[in-house]
Amino acid sequence: APEIEINDVDYLYPGEARKALDGVTLSIPSGSKIAIVGPSGSGKSTLLQLLMKFVKPEQGSVYVDSLPLESIDQENLWQHSNVVLQENQFFYGTIEDNLQLAGESVKKEEMVKALESVGLSRFSLEDSVYEKGENLSGGEKQRLAIARTLLKGEHLWLLDEPTSSIDALTEQKIYKHLFSKAAEDTLLLVSHRLTGLESMDQIVVMENGTIVETGTYEELMNKQGYFY
Ligand code: ADP
Ligand code: ADP
Repeated sequence: APEIEINDVDYLYPGEARKALDGVTLSIPSGSKIAIVGPSGSGKSTLLQLLMKFVKPEQGSVYVDSLPLESIDQENLWQHSNVVLQENQFFYGTIEDNLQLAGESVKKEEMVKALESVGLSRFSLEDSVYEKGENLSGGEKQRLAIARTLLKGEHLWLLDEPTSSIDALTEQKIYKHLFSKAAEDTLLLVSHRLTGLESMDQIVVMENGTIVETGTYEELMNKQGYFY
């Protein structure tokens, strides 16, 4: 059965003229790797916000693991997925505190490895007592958020432009690590560009709140008009 089933969903932000999601239907099979691409404002983030229950559909239905989304509480959803939002994530306390949010049983060696795999090894955990998460740069915060999901070990990944402030070379390394870690898992990745998405099972293109195209990386590259 599909892990996530989105049927004809509409969403309009209060006070806006245009729907952010307009008749979106998408089925995400368990274990698949799906990327959502499209220009800024096309509804990509809203689609993830929908799955995390930050926005409630006005029309249509959403199922996660065959359960109606409205029957799953948000805390539960959050606990059972590896989530990276674009911004406004909490970065309380030290780097170690932030990594510890991945789970009580996470060991120090695992934290060190996770920091290494996102290129943050300059923060040794000993010194990081003095290093506050909130003082990190934008790109470093994203890396820290990714490191946290790498430690979490859940099998559903919801990632909203997790590398948008990270340089291309590091992004490549992080993607490689992420995709190998998530090999058996279901992964939904929002990106504003196609770069690095060669290994995705499917790429879904959004425009104006609507899915306008679905295909593999190759298929989309061979079509005219996709410059993302
Ligand atoms: P993307 O992630 O593709 O850039 P979004 O999902 O963020 O697109 O936005 C889709 C549409 O919804 C845009 O027109 C955007 O301006 C609007 N939108 C997004 N967030 C809000 C919000 N909090 N309040 C009002 N409108 C919003
Ligand atoms: P980037 O080029 O990745 O955006 P910045 O220029 O924002 O990086 O930051 C460079 C360095 O300064 C980073 O290592 C970050 O940890 C540190 N830094 C940024 N903002 C603060 C702050 N408010 N307090 C302490 N250190 C900071």
